[in-house]
Amino acid sequence: MVKSKKKKKMAGKKTIEKKSKKFKAAEKPKEREELLLQPLRGMKDILPADQPYWDQVRRVSEKLSRDYGFARIDLPLLEYTNLFSRGIGEGTDVIEKEMYSFLTRGGDKVSLRPEMTAGICRAYIQHGMNMLSKPVKLFSTGPAYRYERPQEGRYREHYQVNYDAFGEQDAILDAQIIQVALRVVQNLGIKAIQIQVNSIGCPTCRKEYRELLVNYLESKKNKLCQDCKRRMEFNPLRTLDCKEDKCCQVGATAPQSIDHLCEECRTHFKNLLEYLDELNLPYTINPHLVRGLDYYTKTVFEIWSGQEDGRKYSLGGGGRYDGLMKTLGGEDTPAVGFALGVERLIGEMKRVQAKPYKYPKAKVFLAQLGDFAKKKSLGLFSELEKNGILVAESFGRGSLKSQLKVADRLGVEITLILGQKEALDQTVIVKNMKTGVQEIVSADKLVDLIKKKLKADNVIVYHNGEGNGNNHSGNNGENNNNV
Ligand SMILES: [Zn+2]
Ligand SMILES: [Zn+2]
Repeated sequence: MVKSKKKKKMAGKKTIEKKSKKFKAAEKPKEREELLLQPLRGMKDILPADQPYWDQVRRVSEKLSRDYGFARIDLPLLEYTNLFSRGIGEGTDVIEKEMYSFLTRGGDKVSLRPEMTAGICRAYIQHGMNMLSKPVKLFSTGPAYRYERPQEGRYREHYQVNYDAFGEQDAILDAQIIQVALRVVQNLGIKAIQIQVNSIGCPTCRKEYRELLVNYLESKKNKLCQDCKRRMEFNPLRTLDCKEDKCCQVGATAPQSIDHLCEECRTHFKNLLEYLDELNLPYTINPHLVRGLDYYTKTVFEIWSGQEDGRKYSLGGGGRYDGLMKTLGGEDTPAVGFALGVERLIGEMKRVQAKPYKYPKAKVFLAQLGDFAKKKSLGLFSELEKNGILVAESFGRGSLKSQLKVADRLGVEITLILGQKEALDQTVIVKNMKTGVQEIVSADKLVDLIKKKLKADNVIVYHNGEGNGNNHSGNNGENNNNV
């Protein structure tokens, strides 16, 4: 017993020694990697100065989602890799070359989402949303990731607003989806817009069309770029939207999918165009529009901004994907949706000088003087805020003069001054910045007085039932922005 105990102890010691040796080896000072103070290539920071544009996109897209009956859904950025490879399709550029995929410490194969639709379908199946009354409309927004060559308006981490409608076959949903896409762009102040539409058929008619197209491409093979030669096998439709000049020439005389639709697909497309006509939407039939993903059926569309110099710029697009839910193991569910690229929308907003969101401005400034007043000022600020009064301050500054300078620069209407005497008396000096007139007001009457002095539209109450309940929560500047 004693012996074995001793042995164990020894053994224990040995392993500790071993471990510490190992530890030391790992600790060996190695050359420190240079710390690059920059985001990864193709990624960027969204700084405060740019947020008014982002806020405008958020507000417009969220409001329209509510107006058209889309419920918001948020999903993880990471999913199992095979969700995307099965959904988007092996052989597509997205899956082959553009995914951020890696093994987790637990050995799971995962990827950052390259788009949102596959994840939304996964959630739809998992949470039994097929039991909900149709169509089920979902809105989501957030980043997506593609490891592609960064270029103007294209980032490796880019943001999307995404709208999907599930459970309805009728082309009226396709038309409404296109309408929503258009409304988002229009409401951001981008006026010159074109809708490009096409139908790429269903698995039945596309099979025949695909054969026709491959035969045609075979006959022109030597005129295609390297990528298209490869695409011919996996994804021949993609050769039609290749940007290479020589491929465009081949594409121009290629057979077109709309000439080879089956009866059902032809009727569906015809109905869609009738709905678009009824809505007076500015569309163009573009037989070369195919979109990059395998899951699309029938309708595909893109929203282009028509620029004066003739250059066309795609802000996003989408289409119908009736087969995707079944491919992923769910019930057969027709679906149609679209995504717009937020960076692209913002780039275009800036180009056409569309207005970013204008935050409500404080019309009241709170200045304080002396240690006791300084302590009291935090509470006073909060009291005003709870009552929906937007207040600016610069608490760190000591002198009254420098604080009043800030108040001047902000262009406030009223400055409140809390000095030692006022703090003790529980009063506040209220200074009208236009007339220079000052009055001393008892602290408990301050809120009512300020509300009276300010125009009602600067009073914002975020929390129902708090404070005096003067509820203008639906009116926090939104009306000024044509949302
Ligand atoms: Zn068909
Ligand atoms: Zn090509």
